[in-house]
Amino acid sequence: MKLSLVVPCYNEEANVKRFFNEVNNVFLCNVDDYEFVFINDGSKDKTYDNLKEIYEENSAYNIQVLSFSRNFGKESAIYAGLKAAKGDYVCIIDADLQQRPEVVLKMLSEIEADDSIDCVAAYQEERNEGALLTKFKSAFYTIINKLAEVDFVNGASDFRLLNRKMVDAVLSMSEYHRFSKGIFSWVGFNTKYIAYEAEEREYGESKWSFLKLFKYAIDGIVAFSTLPLRLSIAAGFITAVISIIYLVVVILQKLIEGIDVPGYATIIVLILFLGGMQLFCLGILGEYLAKVYVQTKNRPLYILKEHLGKENKNENDYYDFQ
Ligand code: UDP
Ligand code: MG
Repeated sequence: MKLSLVVPCYNEEANVKRFFNEVNNVFLCNVDDYEFVFINDGSKDKTYDNLKEIYEENSAYNIQVLSFSRNFGKESAIYAGLKAAKGDYVCIIDADLQQRPEVVLKMLSEIEADDSIDCVAAYQEERNEGALLTKFKSAFYTIINKLAEVDFVNGASDFRLLNRKMVDAVLSMSEYHRFSKGIFSWVGFNTKYIAYEAEEREYGESKWSFLKLFKYAIDGIVAFSTLPLRLSIAAGFITAVISIIYLVVVILQKLIEGIDVPGYATIIVLILFLGGMQLFCLGILGEYLAKVYVQTKNRPLYILKEHLGKENKNENDYYDFQ
């Protein structure tokens, strides 16, 4: 198998058939040996029924449909898809046709033309979304690039083509809190970035609210940097030094000039400030501790309810331990 398309789908009933047809039209004279790996991430609409229909009505095509027992999130869907994919090259692409199959052809020609390239990632030069969201995303990339030991490219999504070596490297990282952008960067290899323009979503809606994105951003920082922990040590140290200096000043004022400390307000402010600082640092610690707690439970990344088109079905394949 030359190329596998890994397609995470969550509530995409209006898109999956269009996606399947569009890809086949574009690939018609260009790619001959490819497979679809659809992952139904616990959709609540008719996504699975539509995927099953695609599978049953198109036996001439190579199609796998993995269906999760509930919504485990796009990151788990990507992991399951990469694991099931059999291609020499694997492309992760959304089901909503915001990412055009023509770009996949471009990625394929780039990677085939140059042996030294292991991955071709598409990035959006211009984001067609609200100005505030764009600012928030840029700020996130600035912060995470300062904190993390790996590089994150602003605008680069999961839309990318990987060769087999890199797919296996990504699969070897089976951590529970997955942040693909960081994982792709962490495993190394040679990535080429090409610009693409994301289309408007025609059917269905985006699953990313601002709050979900914010949580995802915090997860990314915690997963790829321990610097916030060190920063909290620094913050604690600096406040301690400042309070000692303040104490010395107050004692000297009393001894030399006989001025009493104008107490109440200062004390309240100090208590609130120190209390806030302590809670803030505890919160940072808690974020890391929570991740350790969840990881040590060693729960599977996803649970499969169904896997259509799988060769050699094995009863134990329905879940996946890290
Ligand atoms: N998706 C998924 N599980 C989720 C959320 C999203 O598999 O919990 C899929 C979704 O069906 C789509 C892709 O991930 O194919 C990207 O999602 P979306 O279009 O909502 O993201 P956006 O393009 O708005 O960033
Ligand atoms: Mg989308």
